[in-house]
Amino acid sequence: MSPKQILSKMEELFPNAATELANWKTPFQFLVCIVLSAQTTDKGVNKVTTMLFEEYPDPLSMSKAREQDVYSIIQTVNYSNSKSRYLIELSRKLVQDFNSEVPKDVNNLITLKGVGRKTANVFLNDLYKSNEGVAVDTHVMRVSQRLGLTKETNPDKIARDLEKLYPQKDWWKINRYFVLYGRYICRAKMKKTRCVFRDICSYCKGLPIE
Ligand code: SF4
Repeated sequence: MSPKQILSKMEELFPNAATELANWKTPFQFLVCIVLSAQTTDKGVNKVTTMLFEEYPDPLSMSKAREQDVYSIIQTVNYSNSKSRYLIELSRKLVQDFNSEVPKDVNNLITLKGVGRKTANVFLNDLYKSNEGVAVDTHVMRVSQRLGLTKETNPDKIARDLEKLYPQKDWWKINRYFVLYGRYICRAKMKKTRCVFRDICSYCKGLPIE
């Protein structure tokens, strides 16, 4: 099965695939959700963002927030101390340097506190299908390694491998579909499997079918 066929199968399996981050209405709020989601589940993020966006809906209000007030709202997410600081600092920069608009390119996005290249690509691919690069998180890494699409273990090198295997117009799909496949089917630990790639991937050999 070719890399293209693998991706097409995933698209068939998740016809209504969309980000599972909720409660956001603007690019700023979506970026905040993604920053909060580092080392944290989307469900965990969704639990705090309703209140967070009621208090601080835009860069200006967040830029004026007190760190302990943001912390008290987001304290259940991992690394909430540093994330509180990041959110206020990135909001200040948005207000000062970007007229309170979130930039639409990787190079400007990564000037914001708490936003690395992976976060920038997740944001741009999900919101605008920008295809500036593939973002490799734990799910993309696991699925692409197990399916033999890469032999690398470093996320940046895996991204380069996937960018060679797939046409640039499809890079945003890697983030959407590989993440869902890893979250719901090719999980880190499995006792049963319902994977459609069992014929080409021996990793689940011997596991009962779900
Ligand atoms: S066979 Fe198992 S390891 Fe391989 S892709 Fe499917 S779920 Fe993942």
